Amino acid sequence: MATGPTHAMSGLLAWSGVCLAGVSGTASGAVGHAGLPLSVQTWAVGAALATGAALLPDIDHPESTIARTFGAVSEVASRGMHTLSHAVYRATRTRKDANRHGGHRGLTHTLVFGFFAGLATIAVINANQRWALPALLFVFCGLAVRGLLHEWTPRGDALAVTLVTAGLTWVCWRWLTPLAPGQAEWCGIAVITGCVAHYLGDAITEQGCPMLWPLPVLGKTWFPVAPPKALRMRTGGSVELMVVLPGLSLLAVWLTAATLHRLGMLPWLDRFSLLPT
Ligand SMILES: [Zn+2]
Repeated sequence: MATGPTHAMSGLLAWSGVCLAGVSGTASGAVGHAGLPLSVQTWAVGAALATGAALLPDIDHPESTIARTFGAVSEVASRGMHTLSHAVYRATRTRKDANRHGGHRGLTHTLVFGFFAGLATIAVINANQRWALPALLFVFCGLAVRGLLHEWTPRGDALAVTLVTAGLTWVCWRWLTPLAPGQAEWCGIAVITGCVAHYLGDAITEQGCPMLWPLPVLGKTWFPVAPPKALRMRTGGSVELMVVLPGLSLLAVWLTAATLHRLGMLPWLDRFSLLPT
C-alpha cells in the first residue's frame, strides 16, 4: 500500500476530477449529467466519502493504521475481512497465481468490491437517514481523518480523531438530510471513485494491485496490475513522499478549486485562465 496521506489525497483528486467531468455549469449553480444534479454540499460530502473510501481497501490489513481507526471495533472488522479475503483468494486462485496467504491486497483490492461498496452506500443512504446514514458517514469520515493524519499524531490521539470525525460527520449529515434527488447516487459514485483511486495508487507500488479479479489475465485471476518496474515506487519511499504526495496535493487543490468554481463558488477565479473550462 501507499501511505495514508497519499491514498487520501488521491481520493480527493479523483473525486474532483469525476465531478468536473460530470458537471456542466449553469447560472444558478451546476447540473450533473445523466439527470444527477450536484450541489456544493453534495460535492463536499462526496469529498469526505471519496477521501475515506480511498483508505477503505486497506481494512484487509490488521496491522495497518486504518485498522486502528476505531480501536478494537475496526481491528476485529479488519481481522474478519483479512480472513474472508484469504478464503476467497485460496478458493479462486489458479495454479499460476502466487501461493501466498492472500489476506492483504485481496478481495477489497478489486473493482468488484469497489462497485458493491458504492451500491451498498446508496442502499444505506436510501434505507435509513436517521441512524444508518450517520453511522456510514462516521465510518468514512473517520477513515478520511485517520488517513490524512497518518502516524503524525501522538499515540493517545483517539479522542481528538474521534471528535474531529464526529464534527465532520455532523456537518455531512446535516447537508445530506433531507435527501435531495441524486444525492445518494453521487455518494455511491464518490465511494467507488475513492476505491478506484486506491487501486491505482497501489498499482504503482512494487506489488501491483489485483483489481481485475475475477477476470483471468495471463492465466491468473489475481493478476497484479502494475506499470513497468521503472515506473513503480516504494511505499513510503522518497519518490512517494517528495514527489507523488506533493504533486497529488497540488493537483487536488487545483481540481477542487475548478470544481467549486464550476458549481458557482469562488467567482473571483474567473480572472485566472489556468482552470479547465
Ligand atoms: Zn491497498
